[in-house]
Amino acid sequence: MFLAATTAGDRVRANPGGQAFCPSCMADLIPKCGEIKVWHWAHRTDDCDPWSEPESQWHIDWKTRFGLQNCEVVMGPHRADVVARDGLVIELQHSHISPEEIAERQRFYRRMIWVVDAGEFREHVDLRLASIRTDPYRQQPTTYRSFRWRWPRPTHARFTSPLFWDFGDGTMLNVRKIHPETPCGGWGYLWTKPQFVRRFAVHVDELGDALEDGATA
Ligand SMILES: [Zn+2]
Repeated sequence: MFLAATTAGDRVRANPGGQAFCPSCMADLIPKCGEIKVWHWAHRTDDCDPWSEPESQWHIDWKTRFGLQNCEVVMGPHRADVVARDGLVIELQHSHISPEEIAERQRFYRRMIWVVDAGEFREHVDLRLASIRTDPYRQQPTTYRSFRWRWPRPTHARFTSPLFWDFGDGTMLNVRKIHPETPCGGWGYLWTKPQFVRRFAVHVDELGDALEDGATA
């Protein structure tokens, strides 16, 4: 967990000696402020949210772009990574996730999108045909790309909520179709991270730093 709760009603990042509690189960949390892993809060036993992932710099970089008040929002027994504009949930996925858990989360959050860290398999994705088409999602001309995927992860064909691959270089692919049979391929639309934040953030006016990548919408 990146943000814990305080008795004053604030959300607070992990800091050495810090005292705070879980906004979901109210248990006291332990600040983990070492040199290897990113600073985070830990439960004394297992995290009360079975869907929680170990915190990574990649998660924190994404969460902070949407404003801390919109991160790790308690929803029933779970904490949504980001609650974006109009209540849309953004789930940030770095590690492997099973088809069953994909289906469970989609059922639970209903209106949600996935941002998957594609840095690890980016080199296996061969982006091909490029053309400009009107992306029905954004309602504007967008770069359409088809792709081939060597050593694909079959679970990715199981995402039925909108799926974005974050390539880690400031670009993202909104994957619209994956053909899981060999040779695996598909197609989607290219976005930049600032375009994504602008499209989904609650308070775009307050996001100067989040948009500093310089790409235009
Ligand atoms: Zn908890």
